[in-house]
Amino acid sequence: MEARKGSPNGDSHSEEWDHATWFFARGVGLLTSAEILAGVSEAKETLDTRVDVPRTTASLTGKIALEEHFALPDAADAAYNDQPTPDFRLQMLDIGDRRIAEMDRGGVEVCILSHTAPGVQGIPHVSEAIAAARRWNDYLVQQIARYPKRLKGFAALPMQDPEAAARELTRCVKELGFCGALVNGFSQVGTSDSAVFYDLPQYRHFWATVHELDVPFYLHPRSTLATRQQAYEGHEWIARSPWGFAVETSIHALRLMGSGLFDEFPKLQIILGHLGEGLPFGKWRVDNRIIKRKLATKAKRSRSQYLRENFYITTSCNFRTQALTDVMLEVGSDRVLYSVDYPYEFMDEASNWFENRSKVHGAPRSRYGPSLVDWPNTS
Ligand code: MN
Repeated sequence: MEARKGSPNGDSHSEEWDHATWFFARGVGLLTSAEILAGVSEAKETLDTRVDVPRTTASLTGKIALEEHFALPDAADAAYNDQPTPDFRLQMLDIGDRRIAEMDRGGVEVCILSHTAPGVQGIPHVSEAIAAARRWNDYLVQQIARYPKRLKGFAALPMQDPEAAARELTRCVKELGFCGALVNGFSQVGTSDSAVFYDLPQYRHFWATVHELDVPFYLHPRSTLATRQQAYEGHEWIARSPWGFAVETSIHALRLMGSGLFDEFPKLQIILGHLGEGLPFGKWRVDNRIIKRKLATKAKRSRSQYLRENFYITTSCNFRTQALTDVMLEVGSDRVLYSVDYPYEFMDEASNWFENRSKVHGAPRSRYGPSLVDWPNTS
């Protein structure tokens, strides 16, 4: 096992888990110390005095959640989720009191909001993508201004045009006060069946801008259904969030690593959701096979090193204690940040899992109808 210097990582799962809230405090501390979230209170004192007893309602206040989504009315219907209920659609559209009430229920003090997938990435027409990003960001900044201590923003970016994306990110950070960007995977550019990834040479200037601004870039998944892939044919569900999200995003992250991007811009910080899209679990084998097979990459360092120095990993929509333990062992607890993935997941369900650290997550509550009521207990 690899232990990070200065972290409380121990040599056993139980010791690791004793520090389950420590990583959150570090995460909050990191963001606040980086002045990404000016005015947000430091939650460490609350954490240190919290007793380890099972809870059924949120009591740990001050959490920051980074993968929380909204949609504009005219974009909501293009979201990867097919809006299973009218109420879910309302939750996605709401940037108001109902969302704040949900945050209160989950003990979340601050949400950094981002447009749900595929967002701007699903607009192949370049000038339309540029205009949409600007309009959506202007809308978001107006909405969150009503709750300045509770809501922050991640910029939507027209990655179809790297120069325009760099300009929009700069505007969003310097003029609108956004915390960084959240981009929904590859971009469709020109045609709907295209898929452009950001390790390509035309994006180096964009990354230089991210590096210079020193803000995080959240690489969020999108469905791979936009591009034809035989592996998914006849099994559309695999291409969606249950599995395809992790495949698409982990490949994209590996492309960034393998391109030498982090050698050129060593301060870049990418955020991955869903406990790292499988990368922490697979990183040893990836590096091992590259070395043993002498596989060529443009990177100067190992994937493990990049994952630990250029990536943060959030708990969004992956409320599984065993998996979280693996992430903490592999990348270090100070690289893990709390997130929910609202409204796809419930704020209170996430906090109940997070705060009941000895309790393994069981049956998810159903938002989509009665079919999940009989979901097998996964413990
Ligand atoms: Mn999400």
